[in-house]
Amino acid sequence: MKKASIDGLVCTSCGQSSVIEIEMTLPDGTEVVFCSCHVCEARWWNREGETFEVDGIIDLVGEG
Ligand SMILES: [Zn+2]
Repeated sequence: MKKASIDGLVCTSCGQSSVIEIEMTLPDGTEVVFCSCHVCEARWWNREGETFEVDGIIDLVGEG
């Protein structure tokens, strides 16, 4: 099975590759990937290759 292009994500905090990825679509239709590190529990968003801190995307999702 072919894997998504985001395969191989490593944690931006601890550098481990034990990152859980959850694809989500924001209320405005933006597709994002919620990433959560299994090792250090860091959490962030990835949108089209750009990473956002969880706090940074609240503005996008918080209006619903
Ligand atoms: Zn980590």
